Amino acid sequence: MNDSATLLPEEEARSRILGLCAPLPAEWLALDEALGRVLAEDVTAQRTLPPWDNSAMDGYAVRSADLTGPLPVRLEVGETIYAGAMPARALAPGVCARIMTGAPLPAGADAVVMRERTQAVPDGGADQVDVLEAVGPGSFVRPRGEDAREGQVLLKLGTPLGIPELGLLWAQGRQAAPVHRAPRVAILSTGDELCRVDEPPNGRIVDTNAPSLALAVRRAGGLPTLLGIARDTRDSVEAALSRLDGFDVVLTSAGVSVGERDYVKEVLAALGVEQHFWRVAIKPGKPLVVGRRGATLFFGLPGNPTSSLVTFELFVRPALRRLLGHAQAAPGRVPGRLEGRLSKPVGLAHFVRVTAAWREGSLWARPLATQTSGVLRSAAAATHLLHFPREANSLSEGDAVELLPLSWVA
Ligand code: AMP
Ligand code: MG
Repeated sequence: MNDSATLLPEEEARSRILGLCAPLPAEWLALDEALGRVLAEDVTAQRTLPPWDNSAMDGYAVRSADLTGPLPVRLEVGETIYAGAMPARALAPGVCARIMTGAPLPAGADAVVMRERTQAVPDGGADQVDVLEAVGPGSFVRPRGEDAREGQVLLKLGTPLGIPELGLLWAQGRQAAPVHRAPRVAILSTGDELCRVDEPPNGRIVDTNAPSLALAVRRAGGLPTLLGIARDTRDSVEAALSRLDGFDVVLTSAGVSVGERDYVKEVLAALGVEQHFWRVAIKPGKPLVVGRRGATLFFGLPGNPTSSLVTFELFVRPALRRLLGHAQAAPGRVPGRLEGRLSKPVGLAHFVRVTAAWREGSLWARPLATQTSGVLRSAAAATHLLHFPREANSLSEGDAVELLPLSWVA
C-alpha cells in the first residue's frame, strides 16, 4: 500500500506543531535552578563590571608615555597592588606599581607590562625595575565596564540561560531571573499487555515508554507527571485522559494505529481535542497524532519504544523548547558522511539509528544492524539519527548526510 500522499512530510509536521505553541508565561526562578531556561524579560545591569580598570597580567602598571625613550627604561616601583586591595596613590611620572592579575590600576596608569618583559635591577632591590619593552596605552588593561554597564541591557529577552549567562547574572548580585516557566507534561501508557516494573509480569511486558519519556521530558526541560497505564478500552483511556487540568502537554503512547483496540484518537475526539493531523511520512514513527484543546497540546505517540523516542526527538522536544521560549526550537543538525550503503522505497523519510564518530575530518555515520521499530537495542547504541530523505531510495558509501544528535545518549 502506498499511502504516502496522505502523510505529512516531517518538516511540515514540525512546523505545524510549532505553530500551535507559544512561550509559556514568566516566573522568577533561583539562578541555580535556571540552567536551560529562557529569559522572559530583558535584564538590565545594576552594576558596572569590572568596576575599575584592572590588570590582565601579573606585572607592572605603568604610564605608557614613560616608555617612549630608549630601552630598557628604569622605573621606580611605588607600591605593590594585590587583587582585592585598592591602590594607595596615583602614579607620578617615572613611577610604576607592581600589580597582580585582577587588581585595580592606580590613577595615572594606562597600561600593564608583563612581568616577563621586565628585569630586576642589579642591587636595586624591589624599589626599581627595568622595563625591556614599550607598551601602547590600554595594553593588558581590562577596561571598566567591559562586561556590564549599569543601566544598560545585559541580557535580552529570549536569551537561553547557559552557564556563562548565569555567571553574568550572579556577577550582578542577582539570585533569581524572570524566565518562561517549564511545561508540565502528563504521560500515559496504553495497552492491555503492559505492567509496571514492580508488578509480576504474568505474561505482560514492562511499560518502558512512560518512564523513558519522563526522562526525555526532564532532559528537554519539562516537568513530567506519570498518569500510569490505561487498558485497551474506551472507558479506561477516557478515564485516564479526563484528569488533565494544569498540563501544558499530554503524551500518550500506543493505541494510535489502525488496530481494533486503538482508542486514543477516538477518546481524544470525544474529550474535545481538536485533531490537527495524524500520520507523518517517516519511519519509525508514522502513526503520530497531534491535537490541541485550549492551551493543552496532545501527542499520541506510537507504541513501539523506539518509535516513541524518535517521535519525541523529532516533534515533542522542539515543542517543549518553544514552550520554554527558545527561538531555535528544533535542535541543529550536523553534516556527516555515510559509512556503508542504505536503500529503501521512496515515500517515507527514514531516521536511521547510527553511531557516528569523527575520523579524517568528517563525522562518519555507521547504521546499526537492526532498524525495526520494536527493537530498543539499536536505539541504545545510537548517537545520531541519519535523515534518509523521503524521495531518495539509495545512499552510497561516503555520501553527504544530515545527522540529528540524540538527546537520549548518556
Ligand atoms: P500499539 O501502538 O498499541 O500497536 O503498540 C505497538 C507496540 O509497542 C506493541 O508491540 C506494544 O506492545 C509496544 N508497546 C506499547 N506501549 C508500550 C510501552 N508503554 N512500553 C513498551 N512497549 C510498548
Ligand atoms: Mg496496543
